[in-house]
Amino acid sequence: MHIKKKTVLFFSILFLAFATLVSANEAIIKTDNLNIRTGPGTNFEKIGQVHSDEVYPILQEQEGWVEIELTEGTGWVTDEYINISSNKDSKGANQSDMEPVTEKTITIQHDNTQLRDGPSTSYEIIDFANEGTKFNVLSESNEWYEIANDDVTGYVLKQLIKKEESTSFNGMNNKTIVIDAGHGGRDVGAIGATGTHEKDFAFKTTQELKQELTALGANVVLTRKNDEFISLGSRTSLPNILDTDAFISIHYNSFPEMPNVTGIGAYFYDDQNEKLAKDVLQGIAKETGARNRGATFGDFHVIRQTFKPSILVELGFISNPEKEQLLQTNAYQKKLVTGLVNGLNEYFANK
Ligand SMILES: [Zn+2]
Repeated sequence: MHIKKKTVLFFSILFLAFATLVSANEAIIKTDNLNIRTGPGTNFEKIGQVHSDEVYPILQEQEGWVEIELTEGTGWVTDEYINISSNKDSKGANQSDMEPVTEKTITIQHDNTQLRDGPSTSYEIIDFANEGTKFNVLSESNEWYEIANDDVTGYVLKQLIKKEESTSFNGMNNKTIVIDAGHGGRDVGAIGATGTHEKDFAFKTTQELKQELTALGANVVLTRKNDEFISLGSRTSLPNILDTDAFISIHYNSFPEMPNVTGIGAYFYDDQNEKLAKDVLQGIAKETGARNRGATFGDFHVIRQTFKPSILVELGFISNPEKEQLLQTNAYQKKLVTGLVNGLNEYFANK
């Protein structure tokens, strides 16, 4: 009696080890009402059906047929209507293989999508989700999402979720952003085609940008709050003492000798800030249609002496009479700011 129990246990363990070992591949069913048969061929008896987006461990493959592990027993289906996913995770996959994820949501694509108790098909199916159901992603591995909503928490195979959304990502929340309106007071900056001053354009953009970023939850700090002269030193000390996520110095260009020249550009001092400069420029160019003159190294005090992510942007040529007019309009300023915010969001999302 004693020996027999041990033998049973031994074979149980052997079976479990074997089952785990051979479930390295998975069949994802691609059609409804696919017949399950007792052997690898249409001459074998039908014992049931499987349906779209169900996932089963594969036990073996033979000449166009696969044997799959069903809830009860096993059966064979043709490989014509399945996708085979080689799930390297499934051998001993567990919760510790999952990387935490924040602010990502997924939407179930098909009715009766299987949710499992763990990140492999060797875990039990605990629930089914219907098309359109939204879940927050808690963690992920190469193959699996751990998902949750108010009703259920479980694991779903990534292949079943074709569309990923990241709608809830708001890169601005709680970010400290220092905006530096170039020039001011007796330092008027560049002179526009009709005698306008760069300092006024920069100030207008800064005010608009502050409003927008604040609305998105950012902590916005301005180096200059009025039309006043501010030393370069105090422009950089502010971002340096704060926990600054981005410092943006706002400028406009002028090239009176060639009034046809237009476009936007950005400067970075440290190579690490090239991405910030590029993302912001791309955001603006996309929103405004302005010519992107590119991001380049620039040896300017405000970016050289700021030891936080910092760039200097040139948002247009006020020496071009048409652009000078356009840049003064609220509509264009709003576009500039929208583009700038989109660029910053891109930067924070993929930093
Ligand atoms: Zn300037």
